[in-house]
Amino acid sequence: MKKLLCLIISIMMLIGLVGCGQSKDNTQANGENAAQSDGGEKKVIVMGTNAEFPPFEYREGDEVLGFDVEIAKKVAEKLGMELQIEDMMFDGLIPALQAGKIDFIAAGMSVTEERKQNVDFSNGYYEASQVIIVTKDNDTIKGPEDLKNKKIGVQLGTTGDTEAQNIEGAEVVQFNAGFAAIMDLQNGKVDAVVLDSEPAKNFAAQNDQIKILDVELTQEEYAIAVKKGNTELVDAINSVLEEMKNSGEYDELVKKYFTAE
Ligand code: GLN
Repeated sequence: MKKLLCLIISIMMLIGLVGCGQSKDNTQANGENAAQSDGGEKKVIVMGTNAEFPPFEYREGDEVLGFDVEIAKKVAEKLGMELQIEDMMFDGLIPALQAGKIDFIAAGMSVTEERKQNVDFSNGYYEASQVIIVTKDNDTIKGPEDLKNKKIGVQLGTTGDTEAQNIEGAEVVQFNAGFAAIMDLQNGKVDAVVLDSEPAKNFAAQNDQIKILDVELTQEEYAIAVKKGNTELVDAINSVLEEMKNSGEYDELVKKYFTAE
């Protein structure tokens, strides 16, 4: 009798009627994913980011903090899940999402047509631009046209990288972090740096040897990326963004993180 019961249970497990202790993440609409269950505890949802992008994400000791992290926490809260943050190189984020190693990307990531081929984006949550940074004593680079044939520092795989590659004769030097590009600017190893406006302001506020030119190279919008087809998660993110805007929480965050303006 026992044997028969065992056999029936085994068959049921095989055809997937009975779980094997692993609860599947129900925020994912498709395939394998990073979210995992911790033995009946709160499920984990994984945010991928590159914590080199203040004030959206930056490290303070062991912790990753910032504007994006606060939004991500709200998303996790809404889903009743625990937020885990994976800090990695910016150009590794989309592959990690596609491989199911992370559930979403919150990394000041700009929506582009090319990226839309590979990921789905939430509604936009921040308008940004690419700006040019030079040393304070530089009076030859005054605008984009002066970047021709120059050595330009960028952050690898970003829209600033793409923009710089399009400048005639420019030699583009790719860094893993915007901060490293700024250091090389200061040391005279590059002539200019192309970076997102907010991190640029952040670096400039702490460094009196650099200045930001008063021209915007692009107009961009940041959004949160999810794996293609994961409509359930993207819908949850969009409703969190909307709730945060309606409740005034979004404005509070702007005040908290963008006081330098
Ligand atoms: N907004 C830029 C991009 O999407 C840079 C983002 C970043 O470096 N975190 O490419």
